[in-house]
Amino acid sequence: MTRTAEERDAGTAGAVSGVEIQLEHLSKHYPGQEGAAVDDVSMHIPAGEITIFVGPSGCGKTTTMKMINRLIEPSSGTITIGGQDALSLDPDKLRRTIGYAIQQAGLFPHMTVAQNVGMVPSLLRWPKKRIADRVDEMLDLVGLDPGQFRDRFPRRLSGGQQQRVGVARALAADPPVLLMDEPFGAVDPITRGNLQDELMRLQTELHKTIVFVTHDFDEAVKLGDRIAVLGPRSTILQYDTPDAILANPANDTVAGFVGAGASLKQLTLMRVRDVTLTEEAITARPDETPAQIREQLEARDRKYALVLDDRDRPQRWVHIGQLSGVTSLAEAGRPITDWVTTQSTLQDALEAILAEGGAAVVTGERGRYAGTIDIHTVMDTISHLRETHETKAPAPADEPS
Ligand code: ADP
Ligand code: MG
Repeated sequence: MTRTAEERDAGTAGAVSGVEIQLEHLSKHYPGQEGAAVDDVSMHIPAGEITIFVGPSGCGKTTTMKMINRLIEPSSGTITIGGQDALSLDPDKLRRTIGYAIQQAGLFPHMTVAQNVGMVPSLLRWPKKRIADRVDEMLDLVGLDPGQFRDRFPRRLSGGQQQRVGVARALAADPPVLLMDEPFGAVDPITRGNLQDELMRLQTELHKTIVFVTHDFDEAVKLGDRIAVLGPRSTILQYDTPDAILANPANDTVAGFVGAGASLKQLTLMRVRDVTLTEEAITARPDETPAQIREQLEARDRKYALVLDDRDRPQRWVHIGQLSGVTSLAEAGRPITDWVTTQSTLQDALEAILAEGGAAVVTGERGRYAGTIDIHTVMDTISHLRETHETKAPAPADEPS
């Protein structure tokens, strides 16, 4: 998830085709608006990586992004792309070197898929044959059969297919930089997941510099090599790898934003020792008789006992029905195959619970029995995380377009 471009290159074909972007003291005041929409943002966007701008609706993500390709002119500050001062270039020429994909794909409805995808190459006056070849190559790249799709009009495509065409169009002129503004925001969750997977696959081939805007922190964690968590006026609240942000949110606002969408991921960051373990199981020693254990189970209306060895280490689960007809506990029931320690993550615990088909045994120091953890504890932890985060930070809403 957080490999550097260099590490990725070592493992896959294709060199970094992206270039780095540097924003310095970038600000935008819209005329008539009180205060700045983007206020003094400085950041380095590395070449060949996916950098995510994530933040609530209205925080200035789109404004910041559109200044990079000068769909919006900055009020002040500088933008350097691949070592060139972007503000000194002709904006139209600049935009032909920057792919741009937006929500709803932004396709021209009166143009065919091929005309949409071939738009920038046409503007660049590529020969017709080269454009046609490139269109087919791009459609293929985004998983659309060229023969089937090139002559269709956008309205005859599903939302997901339109987004694929949008991405194909953004990539057509092989720009080193790709800006994506909530490109998958308008499709259903399953299609969105597929498109995200596709983008990640594409990126392992292409190594573009991708700046991707989203208000969905889960999407940011999934796609990002680096994430910039933005607050009001695009203030950078934290700019780091997804792992680092999940493990160590810079402040309460970031923690709230992380938690609002990523409670499940937080299971990997919480330890079994952080939660209250389930009511103690009924435990038994091998030297106790099956009859004694059955009495205890019946008295407390329980079905299972946990057999410990003479040093308190869990050995077997025994069901009350398995106690009749055996003379010793040493062989009764079934051995424990999966357990966790107090140091384990809640994610490990969840897996053990699922593997064991019920509660998972927790061991502490020296492998001694420490308690059990069950699915309710994990679920309660998740919903607790959600609640605390939702009261701390408003859930990011869909932005009006
Ligand atoms: P985001 O993409 O994070 O939702 P935007 O960059 O679209 O945020 O908007 C940031 C702020 O700038 C908002 O307060 C928005 O209302 C304002 N804004 C955006 N575009 C314009 C515009 N063309 N004119 C005036 N204000 C704008
Ligand atoms: Mg926006």
